[in-house]
Amino acid sequence: MYELNEKIRDLVPYEPIAGSYPIRLDANESFLPLPDGLRAKIAETAANIAYNRYPDPLSADVTAAFAAYYGISPDLVTAGNGSDELISILSTAFLMKGDAMMVILPDFSMYQFYASLAEGRVVVCGKRDDLTIDVDAVIAKAKAENVRMIVFSNPCNPTSLGLPREEVRRLIRSVDALVVLDEAYMDFWDQSLLGEVEEYDNLVILRTCSKAIGSAALRLGFAVAQPRLTRVLRAVKSPYNVNSLSQAIGTLVLAEREWEADARERIVASRKALQASLEALAAEFPGAFSLYDSCTNFVFLKTDRAKELFQGFLDRGIAIRYMGGFLRVTAGSEAENAAFLDAFRALLREGETA
Ligand code: PMP
Repeated sequence: MYELNEKIRDLVPYEPIAGSYPIRLDANESFLPLPDGLRAKIAETAANIAYNRYPDPLSADVTAAFAAYYGISPDLVTAGNGSDELISILSTAFLMKGDAMMVILPDFSMYQFYASLAEGRVVVCGKRDDLTIDVDAVIAKAKAENVRMIVFSNPCNPTSLGLPREEVRRLIRSVDALVVLDEAYMDFWDQSLLGEVEEYDNLVILRTCSKAIGSAALRLGFAVAQPRLTRVLRAVKSPYNVNSLSQAIGTLVLAEREWEADARERIVASRKALQASLEALAAEFPGAFSLYDSCTNFVFLKTDRAKELFQGFLDRGIAIRYMGGFLRVTAGSEAENAAFLDAFRALLREGETA
């Protein structure tokens, strides 16, 4: 009988919430559809792609569009099939079997998943009780455990908190490890290190089109690093990792700067409004839940009733994310936020009378 090896034996496929829910606030996507004018350009572009040919292995056009959008050199950029693929590539290429990779928990769960598949040794550094990162603790543990790679998201999914740029710089400069700085949500904050990535020989920054850029369907992410690291990334990725449609459409989307800027403002305004309403609700129901600061497009709540509230929302057709004693809620349209808040108030009232 064929035996599965131990690193894959107990894996379960990633399952997004099963069932269909009219209101989806569970995946931190943008709630804004791409505008009609852009959709017309996309249709024309899609009709003219050479489908019988392989894509450009270096994704040159979309890489140039991304670099122009952020004002950096395209020579520092590697395109991926979502930043997820880039996390996978970084883990398999930059870790040898048994090498230590550090995560700072709670954080995005895929880091540990890919490190395990790469047969890395996952070293966990906790966060402070208030879920902020203790950079001194990270540096000390990285040294003590001979860590080869540190991966973390900034701003952080799921905590919605950000680590100020000066602290990130201090971390990168204080360790020998490769630092993979996942800036998936940095379009919503102003503490990016993109502009100075060339100053570090141990930094890879990840960005994605899945959040502020509103193009999760395309599966388009980017790794930004100085040339030596970029050379490796381009060498280890599979040759045709980004399909021709995503390259062409991504190039169009990244050229719509005015629309993107407006979308970003609307998303941040939605998150601020959601946060303000939740703060008012927390005051109305003292002790029911508490809320973290947010510099992202989602909010993070702590509550003893997370599981039952999560189920209550699902029963009302609203999908959010349940994480142990916490709930994560993506900022949606005005109507979606209102429906979520109405449901929340109703669930909290039910809790009072139960
Ligand atoms: N990093 C973080 C912190 C994320 O939250 C996500 C998506 N949830 C990703 C990476 C993956 O993004 P992509 O769609 O580019 O694969």
